[in-house]
Amino acid sequence: MADPQTHRLFIAGRWVESSSGETFESVNPADTRDVVGRFQQGTRADVAMAVRAAGEAFPSWKATPAPKRGELLYRFGALMAEHKERLAHAMTREMGKVLAEARGDVQEGIDIAFLMAGEGRRLFGDTVPSELPDKWAMSIRQPLGIAGIVTPWNFPIAIPCWKMMPALVSGNTVVFKPSSDAPHCATLLVELMEQAGFPAGVVNLVTGRGAEVGDAIVDSPDVPVISFTGSSATGRSIAERAGRRLKRLSLELGGKNAVVVLRDADLDLAVDGILWSAFGTTGQRCTACSRVIADRPIADELVARLVERTKQLRLGSGLLDTVDVGPLVNAAAVEKVASYIEIGKGEGDLVVGGDRATGGDLANGHFFEPTIFSNVAPMSRIAQEEIFGPVLSVIPVDGYDEAISVANHVRYGLSASIFTRDVNTAFRAMRDFETGIVYVNAGTTGAETHLPFGGWKDTGNGHREAGHVALDTFTEWKAVYIDFSGRLQRAQIDNQES
Ligand code: NAP
Repeated sequence: MADPQTHRLFIAGRWVESSSGETFESVNPADTRDVVGRFQQGTRADVAMAVRAAGEAFPSWKATPAPKRGELLYRFGALMAEHKERLAHAMTREMGKVLAEARGDVQEGIDIAFLMAGEGRRLFGDTVPSELPDKWAMSIRQPLGIAGIVTPWNFPIAIPCWKMMPALVSGNTVVFKPSSDAPHCATLLVELMEQAGFPAGVVNLVTGRGAEVGDAIVDSPDVPVISFTGSSATGRSIAERAGRRLKRLSLELGGKNAVVVLRDADLDLAVDGILWSAFGTTGQRCTACSRVIADRPIADELVARLVERTKQLRLGSGLLDTVDVGPLVNAAAVEKVASYIEIGKGEGDLVVGGDRATGGDLANGHFFEPTIFSNVAPMSRIAQEEIFGPVLSVIPVDGYDEAISVANHVRYGLSASIFTRDVNTAFRAMRDFETGIVYVNAGTTGAETHLPFGGWKDTGNGHREAGHVALDTFTEWKAVYIDFSGRLQRAQIDNQES
């Protein structure tokens, strides 16, 4: 295999080496002999330089009219569309999801770039009547300054775009630290941003360890807003550090998403939705279905159909058209999934899968068989903890009320779905699920970029990505009053009878 390229950091509009003089490798999880590239092991000093560059770029970027900022986002979205196939291939090679899903990931990036480009001509505030005569009242959004963007590997194009596009269109500059499992995707993305013409310092990329680069961004007194997606454990520690400095912080964390299948459901449709949600991206989506809550009269039939279809799934490199399920991202993920299989054997019936897959072409990759446990109790560990792999627990229940209660009895609250033919039950579920996203007669994945994305409970801290609400993370509200009466008017006093 060809000697891998060494990539650099992007600071102040220049591609530079890290002050550490060290690099790390990103490898193909489907075949770890394939080194995707070498990347800079960034340091606190590199972050300080990136923050300085972003700070220097901020005043003129903020002063650029928002529609003009939006035009750059539009150009960047068009470049992503032009390079979609190249980006998707690079993604599959670096983190393993099958090509069709990688294309979808890039498409989400394009969609949010175009959506936020349009926000450049909106950025709506309110204009409302004043309670006093000859007085004008309105609210406007303003950027916070430098946005620290820390992202995971599982949506390595979509998630950085979900964060950077609203940050940039509203006038912030960015210091971006991608996952050490997907630095190549981040580098390709920032190359396109450079090509789109973002001014020097507006976007800065620092690769390297979370504990060094990530912490340095979170700790920097000059970075007032952090947008983080990743595990709940990392999110919690970032929240503590950011909290000490009273920073704005948006957290998108773990999930334990359920599909409820009621006795009146279309079972063929439910099986399709469950398999796509549970084993797509090898179960490594924050919205992946890891629990099926099955109404008892159809539970056995549903499990039988799921097992039959799961046995037909083909594992391998996601670059091959014939493959349904790619590898896990790295060796640690394989270890974690394997440990949960052992736990699961004491908690439910293992009905399919349960092993590493190492035969033939899989020998040099991080493959794990799609796995289903049936007869799982709702409070058991495999039904409560985020495994982040191709492991599905089927929990039998008696009817709608118990199904909703089981669905809601977890720490997380990202996505939930129900399969039913009864419109009244569907509406009850829309009301009753304690999650940020609800699907009816579809699996737990498939969010669109113009609606809010995020979760309740331990999945986050109340912020949302995507949709126009994403702007709330990256803007300060300013209420403005203009009195044109020519005299002192005291609100709440001069307009009262007594
Ligand atoms: P992770 O281990 O928490 O890492 C996420 C990012 O945080 C990486 O860039 C990581 O850098 C960095 N990081 C690690 N320690 C840090 C620290 N002390 N300070 C600052 N940054 C630090 O998560 P992951 O394994 O990449 O992603 C999987 C998780 O993300 C799952 O729990 C999944 O549910 C969640 N997720 C949630 C959503 C959502 O929208 N709710 C979407 C996608 C994924 P390194 O890579 O260098 O360690």
